[in-house]
This record gives sequence, structure tokens and C-alpha cells, in this order.
Amino acid sequence: MATVPAGTLYVVATPIGNLGDLSARGREVLSQVAAICAEDTRHTRQMLSAYGMEKPLLAVHEHNEAEIAWRLVERLRGGESLALVSDAGTPLVSDPGYRLVREVRAAGLKVSPVPGACAAIAALSVAGIPSDRFCFEGFLPAKGSARRERLQSLARETRTLVFYESGHRIQESLADFINVFGPGREAVLARELTKLFETLLGDTLADIASRVDADENQRRGEFVLVVRGCEDDAAAALLEGRRLYEKLKAHLAPSQAAKLAAELSGAPRKSLYGGPGPADGE
Ligand code: SAM
Repeated sequence: MATVPAGTLYVVATPIGNLGDLSARGREVLSQVAAICAEDTRHTRQMLSAYGMEKPLLAVHEHNEAEIAWRLVERLRGGESLALVSDAGTPLVSDPGYRLVREVRAAGLKVSPVPGACAAIAALSVAGIPSDRFCFEGFLPAKGSARRERLQSLARETRTLVFYESGHRIQESLADFINVFGPGREAVLARELTKLFETLLGDTLADIASRVDADENQRRGEFVLVVRGCEDDAAAALLEGRRLYEKLKAHLAPSQAAKLAAELSGAPRKSLYGGPGPADGE
């Protein structure tokens, strides 16, 4: 392959587990650039050594990205080419890098992608849930109340939803998904993709939660949750009605809150006030 052109920032995807997933071009670019900007230099040094490579590494993470971007721009202007990698997968996808990319582009310099692994896309590609339109939501807020609020704002979304989650929060997150989206919503939990213990669990949020609760191994590792969008207007109205009811009942008597929420959402009043759990029949 030809030598990489001068003055370019390459954004290089690295494996999300299986080292065989670094592309031939990714390898080539990493071996030819003057230096590699890495989220965690120790981690990247280990990855490079697995490929028999050694390179000058520059720490570029969310805390220093904005302030060192201009120095990197100067190096690119001087004719050096650089690569940007994150710990795993595609940089900028729930990872640092957008500020650097923005600065480099604003300086009129070239930014070029070297595509490859991305956990969200890998999960979507095996979930068997409609993938023609989807929303990537990344990580939900860590705090329970903020997480439930975010989920409530997404409950009526008709496109497939893709979330990242870590092992220590997977159980409480699944419980919140069930509360807000209903236990019957179709979903696939993709764990440890491309690694030894790769697992896909489905077919509904309730099925997934019971498997995760029953087996602590299913709580280990890294996760992508793919959730089918809200499928019909009645289910959407019910979800919106419940969201409004929860908000309004802090200020009104429950019966009044239910009446107003029903009027605003189009959901039957009875389904909001004293009815069954959220969206059971969805
Ligand atoms: N930039 C990465 C990408 O392209 O997917 C994502 C980085 S984000 C900080 C890390 C999260 O991605 C993990 O907490 C997990 O939710 C997801 N993830 C990464 N590798 C994974 C894998 N092998 N299997 C399942 N999920 C994974």
C-alpha cells in the first residue's frame, strides 16, 4: 500500500475484542503515521504490541482534548500524519475525539476514516430487529431517576433503539426498561461480542431480565441492548399517558391527573389510574 498522505488525521477503528478485527488498512495506517493519539496510551501500547508494532503515543482524552488540539493541528500543518484511536471500536462513538476532529477540520486539514468494529453496529447486525432506521442512544445516565426520565422520553420512539451498558448496571437498567417500556417489548442483549463468551439473549425485555437475574455470568462483561421501537399508536398513547400521569400526580389528585393525562395522550383513563403495570399488553 502507498505511504499515507502528509498532514492527515486518520480516525482508526480498532477491535472490540477479537484482535483479528483490525483491518489491513487500519494496520497499515497505524504503522505509517508519525504518532497515534490514544484515549489510554497503556491500553493502546498493549494492543500495538499484539500486532508487533511500536509507535509514539499521545494521550488524547476528554479532559485534555480541547486544549491539546491546537498542538496536534500544528503537527498536521507541519506535514505529519497522525492517527486517532480509542480503547476499542470506533473513536467518537461513546468515546472521545469529536473536539479534535472538529478543530482539525476547522483548520482546513484533512480527516479521513479507517472504518472497522463498532459494538452498536455489530449488535444491530445480529439482533434480527428492524435495522433500516435506528437511534443510537449510547450510555443511559448512571443515576436511576435521570435514567428513567431518559427512557420515558424514548418510550414512544418508533425506530429501533441501541444502548450501551456495563456489567455493574445491567440488572437495574433492565428493570427500568421493563418499567418504562413494558415487559413484552422485543429486545436483544448482546454481550462480549467477538470475544470468548459472546452471548445473545432475547426475545423480550422480561426474558432477558430473567436470564440475567438467574445467571451471574450473564452480568459479566460488556453489553449492547437493542430494543425494538414502539410499534402501534395505542401502545404509544399508553406510554405517553403514563409518562404524563406520573408527572401530573405530583401536582394534582390522582383522578384529575389521570383525566388530564388521558385527554392529552389519547390513552384510556382507566389504563392510567389504578390500571395494570406499564404497557403489559404491548
Ligand atoms: N467506541 C466503541 C464502539 O465503537 O463500540 C464503544 C466505546 S464505549 C466507551 C464501550 C461500550 O461499548 C461498552 O461499555 C459496551 O456497552 C460496548 N461494547 C464495547 N465492546 C463490546 C463488546 N465486545 N460486546 C458488547 N458490547 C461492547
